[in-house]
Amino acid sequence: MHFDTKAVHAGVKPDPSTGAIMTPIFQTSTYVQKSPGDHKGFEYSRTQNPTKYALQESIAALENGKHGLIFGSGLAAIDAVIKLLKPGDEVITGNDLYGGTYRIFTKVFQDFGIKFHFIDLDDVSNIENYINENTKLIWLETPTNPMMNIVDIKGAATIAKAHQVLLAVDNTFATPYLQTPLDLGADIVMHSVTKYLGGHSDVVMGALAINDDLIAEKLAFIQNSCGAVAGPFDSFLVLRGIKTLHLRMARHCENGKKVAAYLNNHPKVNKVYWPGFESHPNHNIAKEQMKDFGGMVSFTLLEDDQQASFRIMERFKLFALAESLGGVESMANHPSTMTHASVPREDRYKVGLLDSLIRLSVGIENVENLISDLEQALD
Ligand SMILES: *Cc1c(COP(=O)(O)O)cnc(C)c1O
Repeated sequence: MHFDTKAVHAGVKPDPSTGAIMTPIFQTSTYVQKSPGDHKGFEYSRTQNPTKYALQESIAALENGKHGLIFGSGLAAIDAVIKLLKPGDEVITGNDLYGGTYRIFTKVFQDFGIKFHFIDLDDVSNIENYINENTKLIWLETPTNPMMNIVDIKGAATIAKAHQVLLAVDNTFATPYLQTPLDLGADIVMHSVTKYLGGHSDVVMGALAINDDLIAEKLAFIQNSCGAVAGPFDSFLVLRGIKTLHLRMARHCENGKKVAAYLNNHPKVNKVYWPGFESHPNHNIAKEQMKDFGGMVSFTLLEDDQQASFRIMERFKLFALAESLGGVESMANHPSTMTHASVPREDRYKVGLLDSLIRLSVGIENVENLISDLEQALD
C-alpha cells in the first residue's frame, strides 16, 4: 500500500460497537471482567488500550515495521531502548545528537555503568574503530539535530549486522515519509512523535517501531514495567495528525528548499545547513536514503555573534521562537541556549554548533510570507 493511503487508514478501523469512523478515545484506566481472568483482552490501561493500539499499528505500518510502541515522550522511548542494556555494555553513537539524548546518555545511563562513544558518523566506517565485545548498540540520528548531518543508515546496518550489534535510528527529523530505516537494516526506529508525526504542536509523545518479535517483546515488557506510557487522548490527537503527514511533509520539504536557497544567498548568512545542497558532505547518501530533504534548515551568521542572532530571532513575526519543531507553524530555535544548552560549549564548537546558529523548522505557511519574515528580521 502507498504511504499516503497508509497515513489515512493504517490502524484505524470503524469502532465495532457503533461504527464510529474515528477510533474513539478510550479514556479509561481499567476494564470490567466477567469473572477473574475472563475479559476481552483488556485489563488495565498501562498495558492495553484500544486508542493506543490503533496508533501503534499506524506508526508500525508507516515505518514498515511489525510492531509499534508509544511512550509518554521521545525521551521515554529512548530510555526504554537503553534499558535493553546492562552495566558494562557499550553504545556507539554520533557526536551531534539531540541535546536531550546526549543528556540521558551522559547524565543518567553513564552512572548505571553503560559506556557511550560519541563519534563522527559522517563516514560510518569510523564505527569499526570503536566496536569491541561489549558493544551492544549503535544509536544514530539522521538528519542530525541541529547540524543536519546525514548518516548512512545502510552502511551502519551492515557493520551492526557483521558484529551482531543492534542498530537504532532516531527518525524524528525525516519521518517515515522521507525514510524508513527498518527497510535499510535498522532494528529499532525511534520517534519524538511530538514533532512531525503529531505535527500540530499539541502533544508530547514518543514511539518505537520494530520488526523483530523478540526485541519488540522485550521493549513492550520494559515499557509496561517502567510505565512511561502515552495516554488515549494524546493517541487520538496523533492518529488525527498522521492522516495528513504526507501532505504536510510535502509542503515542509517544498518550503524548506526555498528557505534554504534564500538564506544561502543572503549576505549576512555564513553557512546554511540543509542536506539538499549538492555541497552538503553527505548529499549523495541523503539522496539515496531519503525521498526529499525535509523542512529543517540551520544557519550561522557571518559574524558569529550570539547577540546578533538573538536580535534576529526577536524580530521574527511568523517564525515562533520556541523549542520543538515539526509543527504546521514555522518555528525558530537557538540551539546553544535552548535545545542544546546541556551540551558543553567546546563540544558544540567541535561540531560547528556555533553561538550564532539558528535552527528553523519551516512550516506549511505560504513560503513568500516566510521569506519576507526572514528578510525583515535579517535586515
Ligand atoms: C525532540 C527530540 C527528541 C526528544 O523527544 P521528546 O518528545 O521531546 O521527549 C529526540 N530526538 C530528536 C531528534 C528530537 O528532536
